[in-house]
Amino acid sequence: MKFSVSAVSDYDFCPHLFFLKHIKKVRRYTQKMRQGFEAHKGADEVWTRLEVAGAQINGRADFVKEDRIVELKISNPVFWRSHTMQASLYAHSLSKKIIDIEYRNLGLNLIGRPVEMSRIQETVERLKEDTAKMGFQPNKRSCYFCGYKQFCQYQQY
Ligand code: SF4
Repeated sequence: MKFSVSAVSDYDFCPHLFFLKHIKKVRRYTQKMRQGFEAHKGADEVWTRLEVAGAQINGRADFVKEDRIVELKISNPVFWRSHTMQASLYAHSLSKKIIDIEYRNLGLNLIGRPVEMSRIQETVERLKEDTAKMGFQPNKRSCYFCGYKQFCQYQQY
């Protein structure tokens, strides 16, 4: 089974968000996303591949430094959970010990250690199980921050 890094990160934020974006292919374009495409033009874009829980997780890291992964964001830290998962998947793939999430529009960096492999493994195992039965539960605690609520029957706010 293969997943993208963004698919695993979206699943970690909310399984139903994964369903909307990666199964139903609902697409949403915002001004912030257009700014993000522009901002990424100078990125290193290093391809990554991680084997975990019998699945292959493929992605593209923004910047790879000697000791860290730097993930560039134009959005804001309310999405820290999925951003942290995303940067951690790159970090484990490239054997880096530090993740550095740069919120360029805010002049803010969140720096820390990658999420433990055990949590990544548990997340990917749940993702595989849900994909096999095509059942994706909503994580309603994330609804307030979710950019896809207009497409979602479960949204709470
Ligand atoms: S609105 Fe809530 S339940 Fe729906 S996808 Fe977003 S976080 Fe998940």
